[in-house]
Amino acid sequence: MGWKTLDDMDLDGKRVLVRVDINVPVEDGRVTDTTRIDRIVPTVRDIRAAGGTPILLAHFDRPKGKVVPEMSLKQIVPALEKALGCDVTFIDGSYGERVGALGQGDVALLENLRFNPGEESNDDGFAARLASLGEVYVNDAFSAAHRAHASTEALARKLPACAGRLMAEELGALDRALGNPERPVVAVVGGAKVSTKLDLLSNLVEKVDTLVIGGGMANTFLAASGVDVGKSLCEHDLAETARAIASKAAETGCEILLPRDVVVARAFEVGADSETVKTEDVPADAMILDAGPDSVAHVADVLKRSKTLVWNGPLGAFEIEPFDAATNAAAQAAAGLTKDGALISVAGGGDTVAALNKAGVSKEFTYVSTAGGAFLEWMEGKTLPGVAALER
Ligand code: ADP
Ligand code: MG
Repeated sequence: MGWKTLDDMDLDGKRVLVRVDINVPVEDGRVTDTTRIDRIVPTVRDIRAAGGTPILLAHFDRPKGKVVPEMSLKQIVPALEKALGCDVTFIDGSYGERVGALGQGDVALLENLRFNPGEESNDDGFAARLASLGEVYVNDAFSAAHRAHASTEALARKLPACAGRLMAEELGALDRALGNPERPVVAVVGGAKVSTKLDLLSNLVEKVDTLVIGGGMANTFLAASGVDVGKSLCEHDLAETARAIASKAAETGCEILLPRDVVVARAFEVGADSETVKTEDVPADAMILDAGPDSVAHVADVLKRSKTLVWNGPLGAFEIEPFDAATNAAAQAAAGLTKDGALISVAGGGDTVAALNKAGVSKEFTYVSTAGGAFLEWMEGKTLPGVAALER
């Protein structure tokens, strides 16, 4: 792979600028979920062990280039100190002097980079100012790599640069799923709408052997093939697009799987009366809210004959029971095969992560990416500026 890791760098006695994602949820000044903080610990630990002085660069929320006191990273410091097991020097205002006073092995955190308009505009001057604070650059924020910002892009080009532990792990997992996968590869794509996932579908039909389409977006494909989907969520105006994706798949030899049976209801509520019907038999006054058991069995068969799975988007309206059944069952099938060593399973996406957590299988997948937008852009086959800037 085309990027360096911490092991390739001389960090001894060096000030190391580390771009991290610690944009954690905060309520009443307290961090309510430390996942993102916990995940940067190995990188910070290893830099200190190699004799470096980590200076953390991060954003918090969306201050849009202005100082917004409620969005100060200062409120994250206690949680950061607890996770790292050491003091963290918080640096706002004029960085230079304060950074100069750091001792070897100290850990520092700079104030929210997005307080400066140069961050989001990828300003060269701002990047140069940041570069003057250290001697090595480490990017450990895959989740911010789809944005060309000063701390993710321009800065990486100004110093010797490498991927942190978390970034390297994420890139490795993604490479095993789509870059250089063991075949056959199956992609499961669900979620609400085709319109938000057009690029993703077009890229996948070129890369995978089987594409399972579920969730609300399957309705658009079903309708495009002449099935009456009743009152289901459906983008009828995208029928032509759906047919174009299907014919591209036929050309590339990618098999597309649509639901054979579906769970329908008249209301989208917990415990709403629901029934399972064949896809052709959706009542005119009902809506499809989940895939049915035959569809799940079909997906499980495909998983069994695949070596690699990449998954984005739930198969049904998983937030409301019982419409989480297909997502749970397919997730459990994938988790079981992964545990047996028969499948490499990689998943990502905001709601997908929530659905896999709800199904209780996140830890059993090979890799679950919490990167959100960056994961989706990677699945779309796009070049991520923050990753490209690390390539040498
Ligand atoms: P991700 O955030 O993982 O990329 P999406 O945002 O694309 O996933 O999709 C998740 C949403 O899709 C959920 O809110 C879920 O309720 C919705 N969804 C899935 N299937 C259906 C369906 N049949 N009808 C309506 N909404 C659905
Ligand atoms: Mg979503």
